[in-house]
Amino acid sequence: MKGHPYISLVAGGAGFIGSHLCRRLLHEGRQVVCIDNLQTGSIRNIQPLIDHPLFQFVNHDIVQPYMGLERIDEIYNLACPASPIHYQDDPIHTTETCVIGMLNLLKLAQNHGCPILQASTSEVYGDASVHPQKEDYWGNVNPIGLRSCYDIGKRCAESLCMDFYRKHGVKVKIIRIFNTYGPRMAIGDGRVVSNFIVQALRGEPITIYGDGSHTRSFQYVDDLIEGIMRMMQTDDEFTGPVNLGNPDERSVRELAELVIQLTGSKSELMFLPIPPDDPHHRQPDITMAKTVLRWKPMVPLDEGLKQTIEYFKDKLRDLQTNNIINN
Ligand code: NAD
Ligand code: UDP
Repeated sequence: MKGHPYISLVAGGAGFIGSHLCRRLLHEGRQVVCIDNLQTGSIRNIQPLIDHPLFQFVNHDIVQPYMGLERIDEIYNLACPASPIHYQDDPIHTTETCVIGMLNLLKLAQNHGCPILQASTSEVYGDASVHPQKEDYWGNVNPIGLRSCYDIGKRCAESLCMDFYRKHGVKVKIIRIFNTYGPRMAIGDGRVVSNFIVQALRGEPITIYGDGSHTRSFQYVDDLIEGIMRMMQTDDEFTGPVNLGNPDERSVRELAELVIQLTGSKSELMFLPIPPDDPHHRQPDITMAKTVLRWKPMVPLDEGLKQTIEYFKDKLRDLQTNNIINN
């Protein structure tokens, strides 16, 4: 509509990835409404955006329907704790967020006739028996384990998306995000990249769960945001799911050694028990993203880690100045 900026609703916009997405959308000239219950996100992540004339923050839990806007042009659903320690802290609420929250946002998309992008996850593949993982692999997921509130919740969210597409013609866009890292991860987030960097910078032992042979493929957040933007621009009939991740697979031990090298830390490795159901290996097959989105990750791991290390150095300095232990 001429004269009116395009209105993007970002659920979970005060989180790590969501705050990067809000910034990018504002940069593209969109009006951004960020709804977030601040469970794992933080106002600090969006502080620089608060005074932007096209930005609005609403403290809202997506488990409740949101009816605050007359017009919405697109919806991004990133609302859900992503770190295992956080999504397992209140697992029933995690399932509610994944399922009821998704349902509420799909109804909102249906009412507004707008597209909706769902931030799904590589966790839907579970402890994969196919390697690397392609979108047509159905996965190997424990439906009653500690991680199931998240991985089964996200599977149900995908299922709801496809039923709203088939039954009501809602334009859904499902992306399956593989481990993503970068500035604005929280210090106490509990995920491997933030844990290792903070431990290395503080000179504390690096906590490796298991023997360090588990693998993940780490993607820098800027690459993911570019993939999200491209996915939203695809034809209405293209629903995905599409894997978005960096196929550069590393063992957890390799990651620890790289972080120690890049920080110049004297931290030692400490081996702790592996949490139950922790997937052994994970690597995306990104053929579909390359073909349909013309997308591939551009930031190598050491480069992305350097940026993230600089972020955490500043953050730890700020915390020390203000005498705070964690954020
Ligand atoms: P995050 O925890 O930093 O961000 C999640 C945001 O959602 C937070 O701001 C949190 O407060 C908010 N939120 C949680 N439950 C909510 C609710 N019920 N109502 C409103 N807001 C709620 O995590 P992130 O890494 O930025 O992840 C963002 C999304 O991407 C999540 O949906 C996650 O499942 C998905 N994802 C992330 C990764 C990754 O490696 N970072 C991998 C796969 C999928
Ligand atoms: N991990 C670890 N030490 C930590 C945090 C995580 O060894 O301090 C391991 C974890 O067991 C898993 C991998 O690193 O094998 C990735 O964990 P993360 O929580 O970042 O993501 P996810 O398991 O959801 O992929």
